[in-house]
Amino acid sequence: MATERTLSIIKPDATNRNLTGKINAKFEDAGLRIVAQKRIQLTKAQAGKFYEVHAGRPFYDELCEFMASAPVVVQVLEGEGAIAKNREVMGATNPADAAPGTIRAEFAESVGENSVHGSDAPDTAAVEIAYFFSGLELVG
Ligand code: UDP
Ligand code: MG
Repeated sequence: MATERTLSIIKPDATNRNLTGKINAKFEDAGLRIVAQKRIQLTKAQAGKFYEVHAGRPFYDELCEFMASAPVVVQVLEGEGAIAKNREVMGATNPADAAPGTIRAEFAESVGENSVHGSDAPDTAAVEIAYFFSGLELVG
């Protein structure tokens, strides 16, 4: 399997509870390398643009408010099959369905406040990485 990069976000519910290090340990234990990382606070408009694929869904407005409510940590994870591997480490969107040991099973508070974002495919990963990071910030 090829080396891939994927975009990860540690969401406000997790930064509020000081869980950045515990979540990063899950990535590193799974063999994912954090090759870029920064803590930022999104505006609602920036969150809305990031999640524009969900515009019109009933949860969209609340999701954008939530993502702008406190700092997030945006990061690029690299590794063999990193996109699917990160989705595995994250667990299902709804923590009630997330497998034991996954980030969402251990830390998520609800289907909305579910601690992490991860890209879902190579094309979305490329777009999402470019939304937050310039080439100069990706040193591998
Ligand atoms: N979300 C929500 N309610 C839902 C579905 C999704 O609040 O019924 C939020 C949740 O924070 C989720 C994000 O919208 O992580 C994006 O949804 P998606 O289906 O892409 O889930 P993910 O890829 O994050 O697992
Ligand atoms: Mg998604």
